[in-house]
Amino acid sequence: MSKLNFPGRSLDFVEYTTCRNWIGGEWKDAASGETIPVENPWHGKAMGQVVMSGAADVDAAVKVAAEAYKTWREVPLKERVQVFFKLKELCHRDAEELAWLVTHENGKDYAQAMGSVLKGIECIEMGTALQQTAAGEQLDVSRGINCSVNYEPLGVCAGVAPFNFPFMVPFWMLPQALCAGNTFVLKPSEQVPYCAMRIAELLQEAGLPDGVFNIVNGGRETVEAITDHPEIKAFGFVGSTKVAKIVYARSAQLGKRTLCLGGAKNHLVMVPDADYELTTQTVVASAYGCAGQRCMAASLLVAVGDSQKLIDGIVEEARKIKLGKDMGAIINKASVERITNYINDAEKRGAKVLLDGRNASVAGFDGYWIGPTILDNVSPDMPAGCEEIFGPVLSIVRAKTLDEAIEIENASPYGNAAAIFTTNGGVARYAIDRFNAGMCGVNVGVPVPREPFGFGGWNDSKLGHGDLTGMDGFRFWTRPRKVTTKWAMHSDQTWMS
Ligand code: NAD
Repeated sequence: MSKLNFPGRSLDFVEYTTCRNWIGGEWKDAASGETIPVENPWHGKAMGQVVMSGAADVDAAVKVAAEAYKTWREVPLKERVQVFFKLKELCHRDAEELAWLVTHENGKDYAQAMGSVLKGIECIEMGTALQQTAAGEQLDVSRGINCSVNYEPLGVCAGVAPFNFPFMVPFWMLPQALCAGNTFVLKPSEQVPYCAMRIAELLQEAGLPDGVFNIVNGGRETVEAITDHPEIKAFGFVGSTKVAKIVYARSAQLGKRTLCLGGAKNHLVMVPDADYELTTQTVVASAYGCAGQRCMAASLLVAVGDSQKLIDGIVEEARKIKLGKDMGAIINKASVERITNYINDAEKRGAKVLLDGRNASVAGFDGYWIGPTILDNVSPDMPAGCEEIFGPVLSIVRAKTLDEAIEIENASPYGNAAAIFTTNGGVARYAIDRFNAGMCGVNVGVPVPREPFGFGGWNDSKLGHGDLTGMDGFRFWTRPRKVTTKWAMHSDQTWMS
């Protein structure tokens, strides 16, 4: 078994091998022979190439996965989870390599990259816990009659991932899907395909039989081939709302079980009694962690009443961030242009730029940069006030009352996250009960419900039922078989006997 050599251990530019498809435990080229460059966002140049797959490659992966399913589904759950115990150990062993890989292909600073690796490992632990939590149910439902429910695998399943968490997001799906007895085809983002390569090799080293986990690399054509493939029984997607809506409709039309997590516009509501230190630091960490390129990032700060002191503190705190040290790069040139356009447009419409990250640069790195940016006096109908910017831009909307702030939050078509910053429990409860979002925080800027709780928003931030992680994830990748059993005749039978 050859272990790929991923040599990056610093921010220095490193070239990587071509990223190919992983089918049946082997690296394969795509049938088309086409490749596209994968850029290192710190340096703004290609660190490698990734193959672009079509329907033939997806079909080849599905055939191998269907064959592997015949034996993998027979392995008891308690044995399947052992792969994930081993995987956890291997990921800790290689955490540094994995974090540098995230930094190189995605552009996050190393600390945030390591955080995302550790969070991925926590998701792996959810898989190991299934041996305790995924037992079915049974009950004597009548005299001499027992009813039991077992959660059985579906067959070949598939997942599609976005660019912003190349190591973590695949583990929102893999532990539950594979431990449940399914086999899997993953399509990573073509912008960050390298972490998945390491995941494939680590799973193999952890003892996963070849063919149970496969990768097809590519873009839109690959995803369409996945949604259209009749042998793929369930499909998980994480990405923008625009694409989530397209693939959800396409996949659901074929009757495929589908869950699509989409984009976000997260509102943080801040009232004047909020704790100064906690609020200023937490809001800044939420808005600029991962350079704002996360679906849980603070995007719109609704400042209620006289919150000027808190706003000044947030600006001061954000000013301390050193680009290229505390905050990494933007994924690509097009994103820098998109984010810059949002700032320009807001300014033109009357917003005040309190902190300007446009035209930023970092010495020694020719990549894609925008510094922390704060826009004040944004109105909710400006593009910067209602659309997902997905960059290090915090838009501030002023509101006279808490009810007005909640109204602004409620009007958003998204519903991923919302948070309230206050020292008053009654105010917190009032806001949380009225937010129109699936993941809410009280004095928490990134209210990610850690395992075992499921991750998922509402409204345009998620299409489909349930969450992709936690026990909802296990339910999504399984189907319940109900068995009613009678072995003995009872003299005292009832009508249900
Ligand atoms: P994206 O929607 O552009 O791409 C996601 C995936 O879809 C990629 O694998 C891509 O190859 C594929 N794709 C792109 N266009 C397609 C098309 N027309 N048809 C079929 N497939 C297509 O998203 P991105 O830019 O990679 O990631 C950022 C987005 O993901 C943001 O909107 C962010 O909020 C969202 N996101 C959401 C969550 C969540 O949990 N809700 C988590 C992470 C990221």
